[in-house]
Amino acid sequence: MSILALYAAVTARRKQGPKDLTGIRQQGSTYQVRISAGLDPVTGRQLMLSGSADTEHAAIMIRDRLRQQVRDNTAARTNVTLGYLLDEWLSGHQVEETTRDSYRLLINGFIRPALGTTPLGQQCRQVPRPFEQLDAELRACRRRCHSRTFVEHRTPRPHNCDERCAAHVCTPLAVSSIRQCHAVLSGALSAAKRCGWITANPLEAAQRPRIPAPQPNPPSAEEAAKIANAAWEQDADWARSCG
Ligand SMILES: [Zn+2]
Ligand SMILES: [Zn+2]
Repeated sequence: MSILALYAAVTARRKQGPKDLTGIRQQGSTYQVRISAGLDPVTGRQLMLSGSADTEHAAIMIRDRLRQQVRDNTAARTNVTLGYLLDEWLSGHQVEETTRDSYRLLINGFIRPALGTTPLGQQCRQVPRPFEQLDAELRACRRRCHSRTFVEHRTPRPHNCDERCAAHVCTPLAVSSIRQCHAVLSGALSAAKRCGWITANPLEAAQRPRIPAPQPNPPSAEEAAKIANAAWEQDADWARSCG
């Protein structure tokens, strides 16, 4: 480094004054970052954004990025999970009992096992999008087996295995069911957006899965379309109830 460059570096450091380490704490060999993002609209508690890094410099970068998210209003606004949102959404409005049952089956059978326990805000920020990943997984296998080999038993209860217990063979989830999962998720997420739980609906940007032409089985396709359409519409009712 030349004398001039060294002089410039020293002057620049002096100008910066003492380093701002607000929100950063060293714990052993890592640096913990915690900053406030205001009150959680769901729980009413202080909402903290956090991260960790191996170096002080990296921690400062994380802290500044989180501050920027709070300033730009792109930070998560609640720590509740997607499972919590879906339960609230499901119980929040009047629908035919059969429609509600279909939603519950989709949520408990396919959405919750994959995405239920992760905080909502985290899912909206993650890349690749967890929702798109779920689509892809269900298209490969409705059990989302990730190519594991296992025996599918005839019942979950204790039993003696017979010919009905056999090695798992992947079956994709029907496109109409994937579309219904998508509709349920999108309905719930756009309601969450209207209630201020999240700042953007990540599924608005994502492509809706295409549904094949309704043939040769008109009743079930019609039923599927009805369920999907009802889910798109319902977010408005639920958002009205969130106060
Ligand atoms: Zn068995
Ligand atoms: Zn499988």
